[in-house]
Amino acid sequence: TKWVYSFGDGKAEGSAGDRNLLGGKGANLAEMCSLGLPVPPGFTITTELCTSYYANGRTYPDDLKAQVAEALEAIGAIVGRRFGDPDKLLLVSVRSGARASMPGMMDTVLNLGLNDETVAALARDSGDERFAYDSYRRFIQMYSDVVLGVDHEHFEEILEDEKARRGHELDTDLSAREWQEVIGLYKAKVDEELGSPFPQDPQEQLWGAIGAVFSSWMNHRAITYRRLHDIPESWGTAVNVQAMVFGNMGDTSATGVAFTRNPSTGEARLYGEFLVNAQGEDVVAGIRTPQNLTEEARIEAGADKPSMEKVMPEAFAAFVDISQRLERHYRDMQDLEFTIERGKLWMLQTRSGKRTAKAALKIAVDMAAEGLITKQEAVARIDPASLDQLLHPTIDPSAKRDVIGIGLPASPGAATGEIVFSSDEAEEMRAQNRKAILVRVETSPEDIHGMHAAEGILTTRGGMTSHAAVVARGMGKPCVSGAGTLRVDYKTGTLTAMGQTLKKGDVITIDGASGQVLKGAVPMLQPELSGDFASIMEWADQIRRMRVRTNAETPADARMARSFGAEGIGLCRTEHMFFDDERIVAMREMILSDVEKDRRAALAKLLPMQRSDFAELFEIMAGLPVTIRLLDPPLHEFLPKSEDEIAEVARAMNVSAEKLRQRTEALHEFNPMLGHRGCRLAVSYPEIAEMQARAIFEAAVEAGKKTGSPVVPEIMVPLVGIMKELDYVKARIDEVAKAVMEESGTTIDYLVGTMIELPRAAIRAHVIAEAAEFFSFGTNDLTQTTFGISRDDASSFLETYRQKGIIEQDPFISLDLEGVGELVRMAAEKGKATRPDIKLGICGEHGGDPTSIHFCEEVGLDYVSCSPFRVPIARLAAAQAAA
Ligand code: PEP
Ligand code: MG
Repeated sequence: TKWVYSFGDGKAEGSAGDRNLLGGKGANLAEMCSLGLPVPPGFTITTELCTSYYANGRTYPDDLKAQVAEALEAIGAIVGRRFGDPDKLLLVSVRSGARASMPGMMDTVLNLGLNDETVAALARDSGDERFAYDSYRRFIQMYSDVVLGVDHEHFEEILEDEKARRGHELDTDLSAREWQEVIGLYKAKVDEELGSPFPQDPQEQLWGAIGAVFSSWMNHRAITYRRLHDIPESWGTAVNVQAMVFGNMGDTSATGVAFTRNPSTGEARLYGEFLVNAQGEDVVAGIRTPQNLTEEARIEAGADKPSMEKVMPEAFAAFVDISQRLERHYRDMQDLEFTIERGKLWMLQTRSGKRTAKAALKIAVDMAAEGLITKQEAVARIDPASLDQLLHPTIDPSAKRDVIGIGLPASPGAATGEIVFSSDEAEEMRAQNRKAILVRVETSPEDIHGMHAAEGILTTRGGMTSHAAVVARGMGKPCVSGAGTLRVDYKTGTLTAMGQTLKKGDVITIDGASGQVLKGAVPMLQPELSGDFASIMEWADQIRRMRVRTNAETPADARMARSFGAEGIGLCRTEHMFFDDERIVAMREMILSDVEKDRRAALAKLLPMQRSDFAELFEIMAGLPVTIRLLDPPLHEFLPKSEDEIAEVARAMNVSAEKLRQRTEALHEFNPMLGHRGCRLAVSYPEIAEMQARAIFEAAVEAGKKTGSPVVPEIMVPLVGIMKELDYVKARIDEVAKAVMEESGTTIDYLVGTMIELPRAAIRAHVIAEAAEFFSFGTNDLTQTTFGISRDDASSFLETYRQKGIIEQDPFISLDLEGVGELVRMAAEKGKATRPDIKLGICGEHGGDPTSIHFCEEVGLDYVSCSPFRVPIARLAAAQAAA
């Protein structure tokens, strides 16, 4: 088997298309090499090897060693050196590279091949002793941390002590001799921690590093990241080994990262940071504050350290040229890493850059305008789920701002919460339903869970490309990074800002758009849905076939959904309209009455309220379809629980509390979700359905008169499993319709349909369609009843199922295509066979889930219906599904 793919000197065995085999980094290094760009020669060990490694008890196949040795020779031949040969010293970097980029999740080792002997060769070759010993100590530090498991803090402590002792401020202030002493201390530390010396044999070092990369695929951080991003474990990671180039060879050397467009705003301008006389990890780790690439950006930022454009004009020009070529070649915004070794530019990475949702929209719309991509491609490029970020609030510009610090606007959106200083605390707060801002000096991959749990992230160190910034942008969380005037003290649990000391639990607001940190909670504004967002939505609307409706029952939700582009209401859950104080008493009276006369009396109180609710919804929806579902509560949701509640209802009904308590007990159900709910209520108590139908028809007449255009209500019967249930309820509805038409002297067009949310209904769909003019798939209940898993209790063990690989996705979040989906497909086909023009929709949570929406398109549903905030997501996902 071929496990190793070489690249270098303008040639490569792989290309960008080999991402699955070579990982993202390896495939793009090969591609850049073939494009003739300056890439240090190297080779990639395939992801297949990673799979084989784990399949065979963490061992390598026999033929790997020879392939690696040959590829190392090939690198040596290109650069005129040999690995492990002190006379012609070749040093390498070893990096991971999975198929999907996993920032900060995997590990990197630089300067590999150095030891007590070869460091002298490096000093001689480079003519720079200080550089050589700096490189060696970096190698010991990185290798010990990543491969040997000696915590990097040990080394940082030693270095801080040494610097303090000698009165140095910066790492670059240390001389060669001083680095040698630091190296001695480092090695002693390794020996002390491990009981064995730091490995001197370059081959041992190399295989140690390769093994560490493959092992890190299964470390806790990587597993968490994969889980959060739905990356399958089976993908594996590749390993990239490359000849070293040095950004730390003095003041004509540098290292940097850049985006071809601004990843936060999308602005079409080269954007990035670099550090003179440094190695790659320094930029990402936020150890020193980096400098701007362009003079323009430096002036805007008011930074005093010069830009790359100014100090390295030639390398800068070459870099600008390459960055533009790469963007055109990949037809997407690129995220680049580079090193300048003594004035010569080397490209270390290119990949499609992660970006905020806002930037993604702007870049897609701009690139379509530039003719680089089509409108269709622009629509396809936006991750529907990411639109959520844009729907986040921002700080009201007229709000008073009590600014206590300022950092970099690392990820947009504003967030308010209580200060916490650790990721575990953030998780605890989340568990208590409290909002937290995670405040850290800097974050590391160990903080992923806390960043997830927090509303927003604030760091006092690090740039726009620091871990906190990159990860927060990916998560769509507001983040302010590098707020250097703030002081975090973990020991005392305090944040000091402009003379004020805040502690854990104090409320702050961060503004990811301006980088400001504000004291207290601040008024927020709802997001702006115009500009690029509107363009993409408009293009999406031209492409999609399915309609998008919303699940809404309150006027506020209905209005919001319309502003997000909803084309009607797909589900109005009428039971939700009875929860406020005045209504719930009448509702309870109705439920608890044991004779029809009393029930009718209570229903009479509810009728006018329902009528005005519906009239308002019809007016807001102005002629768009509105589906109203008859009452479907498991009754326990409405039963009075406390003594106070029982007393209140008893008073209203004029019965004793004791009698009411008995009636409540009689109504108690062991399994209310499978109990007296849905159409079963209407069968037992048809007067309920009659009241609701009357309210709907009278409201339709009223709204029709008021708006001048007729309203065509769609009445939906829930939880039907037997055709005759629907027949029975429909007959009641038709009678009421006839009565209201006679009373009002108007004709009313209306539809009666049903939810398909029981397996029996799906199986009998061809018969049910004889009475139903539409089906709406209630995939929440359909999932619950198909799996026989309670939708209210499942999350605890479903998570275990996910961890054990029994299920890949929570079926209540993303439709189980193989099981529940098959029922949907079958029912849709059967329904159409009976009634070719039957209207088909979905109104379970899945109606707002992009993967499920793809399925709905495939099955040929007419519309999806989802909660208001998901409407833009559904519009986009429906377009992508139709394309
Ligand atoms: C469903 O079951 O999918 C549905 C939409 O109804 P509810 O969530 O109200 O049970
Ligand atoms: Mg349901």
